[in-house]
Amino acid sequence: MTGRAFLILANAAARERACQHCGEMFSRPKDYSAKQWAQRVFCSQACTGLAKKAKLAAERPSLREAFEARFTKGDGCWEWTGALDGYGYGFVEHAGRRYRAHVLALRLAGRPYADGLVACHDCDNPKCVRPDHLYFGTPRDNVHDAMRRGRLPRGETHGHAKLTEQQVLEVRGMPGSYSEIARRLGVSRPTITRIIKGKTWRHLS
Ligand SMILES: [Zn+2]
Ligand SMILES: [Zn+2]
Repeated sequence: MTGRAFLILANAAARERACQHCGEMFSRPKDYSAKQWAQRVFCSQACTGLAKKAKLAAERPSLREAFEARFTKGDGCWEWTGALDGYGYGFVEHAGRRYRAHVLALRLAGRPYADGLVACHDCDNPKCVRPDHLYFGTPRDNVHDAMRRGRLPRGETHGHAKLTEQQVLEVRGMPGSYSEIARRLGVSRPTITRIIKGKTWRHLS
């Protein structure tokens, strides 16, 4: 007799055993055949269901894996290749919930989030999920995304631009790397890059 066959026999002979899900002892029901009892590993229907759910969850890719499978890292924007919502923003569904891709990008990058903040694009590309092109801002900070949808005029007049027109003119004459200038002014590096290269604030010169 093999060791395994012996264990099965010993198990079938026992009057009670521990549930493989919750660990509680349960007894052999009176109407169970030896075969039924030998195959029984959970104490209740509830534990059978919970164990099945846990097994499925263990086999499912993590939210991070599901997210990272849907874009490729490169030099510029990391464009989402998964599903897009009606506004052109990426999303991923996981364990019955829907997550916006650019919000997830910031959260998985460990950026601090507070209630009421929204994930904003500095690069004006709604498909982009590259964390250093994104930031958590107030809804009023969401200038680029709003401008893309044509709701706000360009430049300083709408009142929520992060730099004044005077600062933009100064930025263009500043010494130092783009990152240093960005840090000094408290804006992102891509913002500075675009200002210096004239992609935004083009009406100033
Ligand atoms: Zn149980
Ligand atoms: Zn981008």
